[in-house]
Amino acid sequence: NAARSITTATPTITQAFNGQKKANGNYTVTLIPGDGIGPEIAQSVKNIFAAANTPIDWEEVDVTPTIKDGKTAIPEEAIQSVRASTVALKGPLATPIGKGHVSLNLTLRRTFNLYANVRPCRSVAGFKTPYEDVNTVLIRENTEGEYSGIEHEVVNGVVQSIKLITKEASERVARYAFSYAESVGRDRVTAVHKANIMKLSDGLFLDVCRQVSKEFPNIKFDEVLLDRACLHIVSDPAIYADTVMVMPNLYGDILSDMCAGLIGGLGLTPSGNIGRDASIFEAVHGTAPDIAGKDKANPTALLLSGIMMLRHMRLNEQADNIEQAVFKTIAEGKALTADLGGRSSNTQYTNAVIQNL
Ligand code: NAD
Repeated sequence: NAARSITTATPTITQAFNGQKKANGNYTVTLIPGDGIGPEIAQSVKNIFAAANTPIDWEEVDVTPTIKDGKTAIPEEAIQSVRASTVALKGPLATPIGKGHVSLNLTLRRTFNLYANVRPCRSVAGFKTPYEDVNTVLIRENTEGEYSGIEHEVVNGVVQSIKLITKEASERVARYAFSYAESVGRDRVTAVHKANIMKLSDGLFLDVCRQVSKEFPNIKFDEVLLDRACLHIVSDPAIYADTVMVMPNLYGDILSDMCAGLIGGLGLTPSGNIGRDASIFEAVHGTAPDIAGKDKANPTALLLSGIMMLRHMRLNEQADNIEQAVFKTIAEGKALTADLGGRSSNTQYTNAVIQNL
């Protein structure tokens, strides 16, 4: 029975973290410091996690790409490390510009089949934005849709990009969304779609979400058209404060940046890329070459990504402790970095968070 085999092959949220505790009681976590401001903000996370006695031994790896058979490849050592630890925290990676270079981020996503991209956005007390009540969680299908990479020229002047939607990928992301809702205490999942126009592709995605919802009787399920969801989010984001929104790849890419804008942008937005064999957590922002090496970067987005990672590892106590210290530090407003309107360095902000643990 094909449907059943898909069902059993799909991991639930609890199966996704398979890391083993070592003899010293710690877990090994792969750390990819990344480029630009990456090493500075990764150091900040390491200092704060150490001060909070987080049971983690970092395994730092280099992902400088190699070219294998004409394709961008990640060094084998880094791949082995992520496979063994099953969880990684990753700084931003610079994408080389020009033809023939494949994004390393995309390569990582493909190598580890990171099928769900989780993007929470929450208003932060102490940093004023037009709305004070944003608390959205978006889960984006991360492997197909318009980003399946199948494009061709039909005839001169006419190109075709294929939007690929499969039952298997829709089912695993939908199931992850429901499991995630359960694990973080949200009682609703909302599928975002355009099945009124894309009757077959989004229709399949939506139908699968409806089917999966039956497996989760304690979670409510509803549906919203993408355009309506955009209107809601910019007019009253609180509408989605109790739900987990799940959607195909392209919609999630766009909608999640819109939510990020509502809470003050890049310095504050974390993400998780969940896969069957491993999961990689990272800030949404890039390498910020304009401020790299100047001790000016705000490490909060990577820190919040690290906190998501701790929750994924079921280290909730440590996650709660570090999170309250981060939000307290921002609310106090005494040690903010320049992007949040302050004058403190990354080091000063990091020390203030440590004081608040
Ligand atoms: P960016 O996010 O690096 O920077 C945009 C602006 O935001 C800059 O002014 C920068 O100073 C500021 N900024 C970003 N993060 C900040 C932080 N933590 N603290 C304070 N200010 C911060 O975007 P970009 O300039 O378009 O991209 C630079 C490079 O990063 C490119 O090579 C791009 O491909 C790469 N990138 C990587 C990732 C990733 O690895 N996931 C994501 C986005 C961009």
